[in-house]
Amino acid sequence: MLDRTKIIVRVAVNRPLRRLLDYSMPENLANRHSNCSTLIGCRVLAPLGKRQVMGIIIDCPEHSNINNDQLRPIGELIDHKPLLPQQLLSLFLWAANYYQHPVGDALFSTLPTALRKNEPIPQLGVPHWQLTTLGKGLSYDSLRRSPQQKALIENLSAEGQLAETTVLRLFSRAVLRSLIMKGLVEKIFIAVTVKPKDNENMVREPVLQLNSAQKTALDAISLHAFHCYLLDGVTGSGKTEIYLQLIAKNIRIGRQCLVLIPEINLTPQTQRRFIKRFNVSVVTLHSGLTDRQRLTAWAAAESGSAAIILGTRSAVFTPLHRPGLIVVDEEHDQSYKQQEGFRYSARDLAVIRGRRENIPVVLGSATPSMESLNNCRNQRYTHLRVDQRAGNAVQPNWSIIDLKGEFVESGIAQSTHAAIEHTLSRGQQVLVFINRRGYAPTIICQQCGWSAECNHCDSRLTVHRAKQKLICHHCDYQRRIPTNCPNCQSHQLIPTGEGTERTQEYLKQKFSHVKVIRVDRDTTQKKGAMEAVINDIERAEPCILVGTQMLAKGHHFANVTLVAVLDADTGLFSPDFRGHERLAQLLTQVAGRSGRGDNSGQVLIQTYQPQHPLLETLTRDGYRSVAAQLLEQRQSNQLPPIVHTVLIRAESTNSVSAEKFLHQTRQSMERIDASQAALTLIGPLPAMLEKRANRYRFILQISATQRSVLKQSVTLLIREIEKLKSSGGLRWSVDVDPQEM
Ligand code: ADP
Ligand code: ZN
Ligand code: ZN
Repeated sequence: MLDRTKIIVRVAVNRPLRRLLDYSMPENLANRHSNCSTLIGCRVLAPLGKRQVMGIIIDCPEHSNINNDQLRPIGELIDHKPLLPQQLLSLFLWAANYYQHPVGDALFSTLPTALRKNEPIPQLGVPHWQLTTLGKGLSYDSLRRSPQQKALIENLSAEGQLAETTVLRLFSRAVLRSLIMKGLVEKIFIAVTVKPKDNENMVREPVLQLNSAQKTALDAISLHAFHCYLLDGVTGSGKTEIYLQLIAKNIRIGRQCLVLIPEINLTPQTQRRFIKRFNVSVVTLHSGLTDRQRLTAWAAAESGSAAIILGTRSAVFTPLHRPGLIVVDEEHDQSYKQQEGFRYSARDLAVIRGRRENIPVVLGSATPSMESLNNCRNQRYTHLRVDQRAGNAVQPNWSIIDLKGEFVESGIAQSTHAAIEHTLSRGQQVLVFINRRGYAPTIICQQCGWSAECNHCDSRLTVHRAKQKLICHHCDYQRRIPTNCPNCQSHQLIPTGEGTERTQEYLKQKFSHVKVIRVDRDTTQKKGAMEAVINDIERAEPCILVGTQMLAKGHHFANVTLVAVLDADTGLFSPDFRGHERLAQLLTQVAGRSGRGDNSGQVLIQTYQPQHPLLETLTRDGYRSVAAQLLEQRQSNQLPPIVHTVLIRAESTNSVSAEKFLHQTRQSMERIDASQAALTLIGPLPAMLEKRANRYRFILQISATQRSVLKQSVTLLIREIEKLKSSGGLRWSVDVDPQEM
């Protein structure tokens, strides 16, 4: 074969390379796949150095920058039909480009593990038979002597495809086998349609009669084209019911729904509500699945046999056979942003995907992010508001408890104590919120003031009483609780401050007649533990729940009527400009667990800062007012989402390399931006936690009012800094639209 006729394939390999690699098609494959573009999206094994690595064909260009006879041939073609549909592949390319991340790593880090390992996609559709290209070009005469085979060929030619069951009803297995041997027929799997045959049977339980606010919101959402809607409904306003009815409409027109939720394991109730409602297949995709389960769920989505795909962050990359709708529940939740490796935002990609597939995207929250509110203000999204709780429930009453004037025992003020007692006496449930797990945040020597610090991080060790350990919550370093002070040998080592474990212990003593259930990462780690807790709570007997922000996530506990926040102050003075947004969201979400049933709810916020403007506005006017003020501040201080930012992060094992690297990075950026002066650079600064797990961490922040300018400059910058020499185990990464410092 002449060189100029060589078929070139451009491949994203499973390596952190920021470019695509060109290979040639070996002759035997080139003959079989003359139209190479049908192979875009297929996996290949390709040589890289001395090894064969997995890759995905991204393009079949006519020309390569590499001389044709120097192109290496690919080793093996793994798939004969694309693993990923064209639309999804282009979403990956877009995301890798936008987040400045190697395409191959973006692709392979989000695929089910089994598919990273050369396994085929399990075939889930209904098996059918059709003619191969050879079979189509056959003259029937050649089968003159096998009338049965000829008849089957004629049938397939007339019908296009026949279900395997039909073929075997009409013909013997031997006939089919002969045609297979001759290469005249091939098996394909055809997805079963998501459209239930009998529409009436699709919904298993009666739908609720929507109130007028819910109905207005539902009617405003058009299923026929891309548009983004922000469903901004107070806690308990029945957003989930709106999703469910919207999804039903979408399934009726034969389309699949992708529903993203923050953490499935923490919210088994949501999953249950979806499964209970529909008679169609609902699959879930989350980190708790085995490789096999994950692959099966993925394939069910890809083949179209799953109608509803419920998943966490990475589910945004699930292939869909007939996409119709994307819902992102609790869109403000930080878990949608991946904080390492491929640092993408699943919420933002959901919107991009919706636009590419031309389907609507619904972002829902009681506490929308500044980004989404700003997009409503710019009229990019449609703002749908639901201001009242659904059913008989009403919004809870908030009060602030000024800790300065109170008798406080184990972090609980006397008036809070009285309110807990009163709630329990009425047979209702109490939620005590404290965002710190463990027994106490630190241990201090009363003689010399020594406190236990992590040797590997800039942080204190948390006391865990039940485990008898001091644990670092940043690097998981653990040691036994010492009996005397390592500094002065005194025995007066006192756990100081409160964590969930201590609060539970105290409440158990004081309210020994009820169950005190602790809900934090330590008590819910085991599989099914969260579900057991929820079953316990749903029994609706009077009890006290003590927990971290896990309890703030979308739960519906009808008999909780009192929520007590033990310490609102830690979030008030965060150095992160997002601190107040996060605190307002957290408090509103926790408060939203109160009074969701028939009895009205109450929220108590304990603070030493009762006059703090954030707490005042929040308790008096609610999240919307706080959010409006915060967005104004972002505008006047030129902070995201008004401006766009990229962080260059660097960390090293010695204390100087990372900072030095970012100084050089800054100089490069200044040179690149010299003519335009469109960028604002801040740093290098130490990261919020400078030393973590023995690594020193620094950041350089780059911002601009125009996204395109920022994008171009950062692309040039990365080319420069890839060439910089590094030392001290330096690692660097790019974080586009960062969510934390
Ligand atoms: P959100 O997701 O906004 O927090 P949910 O969808 O969980 O709210 O609804 C809160 C409660 O109100 C649920 O128990 C739900 O079944 C109930 N609910 C929702 N819509 C209605 C309605 N139209 N009529 C009666 N009850 C409703
Ligand atoms: Zn001491
Ligand atoms: Zn540590």
